[in-house]
Amino acid sequence: MGCSICVDFCPTNVLEMRGTVVAVKDLAACTRCQLCDLRCPDFAIQVFD
Ligand code: SF4
Repeated sequence: MGCSICVDFCPTNVLEMRGTVVAVKDLAACTRCQLCDLRCPDFAIQVFD
């Protein structure tokens, strides 16, 4: 959706906006905390181990 909620909530700055879409900037920094998944109002993100 490009609303950037997930970008704002990620505690380790894994995600970033690229134009109007969200992109993974640093996958190695992801702790699988699932905050991005839980906060997304449109269920647009799923975190897999
Ligand atoms: S699961 Fe990964 S990408 Fe999502 S908020 Fe947590 S650290 Fe960031």
